[in-house]
Amino acid sequence: MTETIQIHHVPCPRCKSTDFTPVISVLDYLVDYPEPFAVVCCNSCGLAYLRTQPIFDDLMRVFYRSDYISYEEGSWLNRQRESFKHKGRIRDLASHIPANGKVLDIGPGAASMLRNFSLETDWRLHAVEPNRDICQQIAKWGIVTHACTLEEANFDTGSFDAVTMIHVLEHLPDPVGTIHEIHRILKPGGLFLTEQPNFKSAARNMFRDAWWGYHAPRHLTHFTPDNLKSILEDAGFDTLSIRHPIRPACNPWSFSIRLENLGISKKVAALFGNRSPIFILLMLPFEVLLSLLKRNDVFEVLFCKR
Ligand SMILES: [Zn+2]
Repeated sequence: MTETIQIHHVPCPRCKSTDFTPVISVLDYLVDYPEPFAVVCCNSCGLAYLRTQPIFDDLMRVFYRSDYISYEEGSWLNRQRESFKHKGRIRDLASHIPANGKVLDIGPGAASMLRNFSLETDWRLHAVEPNRDICQQIAKWGIVTHACTLEEANFDTGSFDAVTMIHVLEHLPDPVGTIHEIHRILKPGGLFLTEQPNFKSAARNMFRDAWWGYHAPRHLTHFTPDNLKSILEDAGFDTLSIRHPIRPACNPWSFSIRLENLGISKKVAALFGNRSPIFILLMLPFEVLLSLLKRNDVFEVLFCKR
């Protein structure tokens, strides 16, 4: 990749301290940008974050192209796996959300979760997604779309029964500000469901710079269950549950990045990657074990506005 991008150095997204300990330098593995990005850990509050970041316009222009993985629906098998996940989420949320409740999903990507919500619930569904093409695609399922950021949407205070964010929080330049905005737009007792990579994952230590969860420079903040719980509770939420759901494609994804880093072609590495059903099945027992130990690659939390 030969495009020039402008890099800036950011402070800790939680406490704004610039006192940090370097963790690792990682390369982008989707558009092959040649310079590494620095992941650091804040010495003041312990949050890990990407210290060197492309400026926002360059980040969007170069690293979120139309073929970005989150905008793809994937294979039939992937869609079935996604649907299974969403049914579990519906069960979790349905006992708290009233009939005809108003639910907002932030950053729906290919929107498979919203599609499941629209098929299986009577919830009034809204989505915030800056990508206009995605908004057009999902509006056909009766979802009210807002082609902007959450802050730009400027929803009324206390207007939603639930807000969901699946693998979005770690992408945001100001995750703490967004959490406060979510708290504002929720009704008292409203739910906030979020899933993100687990910085405490055992596979992060095993795969090091090939760990998929670094996803530089798109993942700007790296959460653990403990520090996300602390940030949310400071913002006025109570914790209802913290789960370590089985996500069997994560370790194959890291494995394929490791192979690419060793010089193996993308095509061959993909045979062992997150799109390879056989390899995903082979790695499943390992993922189940890590999930039981609460050291797998993702965690899902459900919070309730006080
Ligand atoms: Zn900090």
